[in-house]
Amino acid sequence: MNSTSGNTGIPRREFLKSSSALAALAASGLAPLRAEQPAAPRTVGIQVGSISFVDEGVGTVFDILQERAAVNTIFLTTFTYGRGLAGRQIPGHPFPDHGVQEADDKLFHGGNYATPHPEFYRHTVLKATRAPDHGELDIVAAVLPEARKRKMKVFCSIEDVFRSDVRGVEEVAEVDLQGRKTGSLCLFHPDVSAFWTGLATDLSTSYDIDGILFFNERNGPLLNALGASHAQNIASSRVTCFCEHHQRAARERGIDFNRARQGYQKLDHFVQAALRNQRPTDGYFVEFWRLLVEWPEIVAWDRLFDIGKHEVLKEVRAAVKAVRKNLDVGFHLEHVNSFNPIFRATRRYEELATQSDFLKVVVYNNCGGERYANFIRNVGATVFRDVPGEELLGFNNHLLNYGEEAKLNDLAASGLSPDYVARETQRALAGVQGKCRILPGIDIGIPTAKNSRQASPDDTYAATFAALKAGAQE
Ligand SMILES: [Zn+2]
Repeated sequence: MNSTSGNTGIPRREFLKSSSALAALAASGLAPLRAEQPAAPRTVGIQVGSISFVDEGVGTVFDILQERAAVNTIFLTTFTYGRGLAGRQIPGHPFPDHGVQEADDKLFHGGNYATPHPEFYRHTVLKATRAPDHGELDIVAAVLPEARKRKMKVFCSIEDVFRSDVRGVEEVAEVDLQGRKTGSLCLFHPDVSAFWTGLATDLSTSYDIDGILFFNERNGPLLNALGASHAQNIASSRVTCFCEHHQRAARERGIDFNRARQGYQKLDHFVQAALRNQRPTDGYFVEFWRLLVEWPEIVAWDRLFDIGKHEVLKEVRAAVKAVRKNLDVGFHLEHVNSFNPIFRATRRYEELATQSDFLKVVVYNNCGGERYANFIRNVGATVFRDVPGEELLGFNNHLLNYGEEAKLNDLAASGLSPDYVARETQRALAGVQGKCRILPGIDIGIPTAKNSRQASPDDTYAATFAALKAGAQE
């Protein structure tokens, strides 16, 4: 337990096992480490939700994090309605070896776990977002003094996950292909960007924090139509967004709204026919590619989603820097970036480096097997339906520059390897060219299905070691 890991100097200790606790390690010394030149202190961060502090006590949680994991940075879940970052263990999964061993699905609501100050939300209908979960508790105010005492950094994690019963959401909700309102927010609605910049300004102004980590794992309509991410379902009839604000944004960029909608209807037909095993005369891939050629608006509309998403990220960073220039703003780069080559093509590390102070790059290898297998099966059910699954996986491994990984049927049970962590860390470091810091996000007990790999402390150790080694070699 207390041995050190080779030449990294990082104590080999069991990391805290928690559903909401994922370490992010900064390979901050991008230059080769030299003996005469002390390396900048690495960020050893962990994502923690308010429930952990409520259940176990602020001091106790800090003690555990410092003693057992050498953590020096807290990514404190401050805003989300999602259960990935907030709440106890996701219902139906085993509890970690600490904290209250009882499901909180009846208690969990989500929202802003700090205190929203109304003056920052004047320009948005999303005014009433205070999380009711812990009464009057302001988690940022509760955690900051203890962190300062221990010379630890605190970043507020804010995540674009909403629920439809929050006041104002219906007014700013996305509209799907069938014209139905959804529970997600339209990124081109002015009230939505006003909400995010208001929240970021509020947190930066009202608290002595070190910065913000922004999460938005939402995908564009093309990936959602194909289920080509770890979202796991194919939702070609439910893609978004076709609201009036999107129509305006499209017009400004010379994209034909009606053709975009027709294109997605065609794509929906293609997907649904594939799922019924109705093979197009020329084959699935040719028919898909033909759709993209004949309806280029499909790609343009997907691109428009990304533009909206990154515009909000840029606005959040500008808002934070306007309060205090030395605050850092990081983006969470979602898992799909590492296993979907089509998604990869839409993200340039070089460009992302100009928009953030650090990138938390998801390299969760244990749950990665399950998620990657889902991706392969989903694209193998539509676009690549003519290709046997094992061959599709092998081909995709080559596209992604993966090394030896498990076969398709074993992938969920095996997980992805530490080598995958190293390769994705190296790719990110090479991409950003030292222009922003890379914090590989390490998988510590992210819940997986019963027959999928359950992460062990040794897995966490191996992944952490791989990430550090990849960074130190830069
Ligand atoms: Zn919209």
